[in-house]
Amino acid sequence: MTDTETLGVVGGGQLGRMLAEAAAPLGVEVVVLDPTPECPASPVARDQIVGEFDDEEGVRELAARADYVTYEIELADPDLLAAVEDEYDVPVNPDPETLRTIQDKLVQNEALRDAGVPVPEFRRVGDREELDAAVEQFGYPVMLKAREGGYDGRGNVPITDPSEADDALDAVSGGAVVEEFVDFEREVSVIGVKGADGETAAFPLGENVHREEILRETVVPARTSETVAERAREVAEDVLAMLSGRGVYGIELFETSEGEILVNEIAPRPHNSGHYTIEGALTSQFEQHVRAVTGRPLGATDLRSPTVSANLLGGGDERRPADWSGDDAILRHPGASLHWYGKHEVYPLRKMGHFTVVGDREENDASGEGTTTDRLLDTARDLRDEVTFE
Ligand code: ADP
Repeated sequence: MTDTETLGVVGGGQLGRMLAEAAAPLGVEVVVLDPTPECPASPVARDQIVGEFDDEEGVRELAARADYVTYEIELADPDLLAAVEDEYDVPVNPDPETLRTIQDKLVQNEALRDAGVPVPEFRRVGDREELDAAVEQFGYPVMLKAREGGYDGRGNVPITDPSEADDALDAVSGGAVVEEFVDFEREVSVIGVKGADGETAAFPLGENVHREEILRETVVPARTSETVAERAREVAEDVLAMLSGRGVYGIELFETSEGEILVNEIAPRPHNSGHYTIEGALTSQFEQHVRAVTGRPLGATDLRSPTVSANLLGGGDERRPADWSGDDAILRHPGASLHWYGKHEVYPLRKMGHFTVVGDREENDASGEGTTTDRLLDTARDLRDEVTFE
């Protein structure tokens, strides 16, 4: 390689921003396609093309300018990506076919099941009759999910008794899948990666704490048994084997109360639960993604130290210009690292930023007050409580 290469990214949100930050030291410049002028990635990317994620002209311009193309959002258009891959002879990763599978929760669950990967019991639901038939089999409660377009729990409706069924079906119009309601012990995830020549790697198991179906904190290593962690690694390997295309994948898992691992869903991109890798692992998930989609060797995935990341979610009750205070507490804390995403407006629960607290290997359990990860999580929660949106 003699000259700077260009990676075209569909989407210029926080994931695009952190991808661009990670790409620069590798000699890779990023151009993003995003509909919002001054999107989060724009200040750190080489350039932004302003256009919708599925805008034909925008995607063509991106492909024409790039040596490699990837996407950081599932709203990218697989048909268009497959078309430009041919026309501009530019590799698009992960494979647009993988994106197509993942975009539809029913197709995704079927593909996982057909590959022998454990998933919650599920059924396609088109009407009340089909829903009732599924409930007959699973029993209440169940989780009804829109097949397409859900994120951060939007598009998911739990149903606890028959009186809620019709409203739930109305809420997920356009095709749905119903799943048994998993009685999970904890939610965990593996950030896996597929590189060139069949090389794969996985970061250590993370534990994800959700509230209102939105990720609040990730604790690494997950506070579970070695047996469960090993099982999660095996399942993640099987998931990677069935996916086609290079890149980082966020593999969301349930650990059931019986210690079983089930796959909840897959993201064909860096994942919120992998943000801790920027400071907590030998290679960040963003650098790893750039390495993978540009055909470079993968980096080591070992943990540097126990690490907790916490999301900074918008407060208040309306959309307004972003303004906050209290982040000095994070900046003052040794081992804490702050990432604002450069979003100009805040609204309730919007992902505005995150921070990471990396533990000290040596201090492990020295205080006798709980484990290192417990203490890091307490610290992260205290620091997060300092941050308020005006
Ligand atoms: P999204 O794509 O919107 O993030 P998910 O399918 O990951 O949606 O669901 C969001 C959250 O909802 C999960 O993290 C989990 O807490 C809960 N959830 C999803 N599916 C189930 C299920 N089958 N049983 C119990 N809880 C579930």
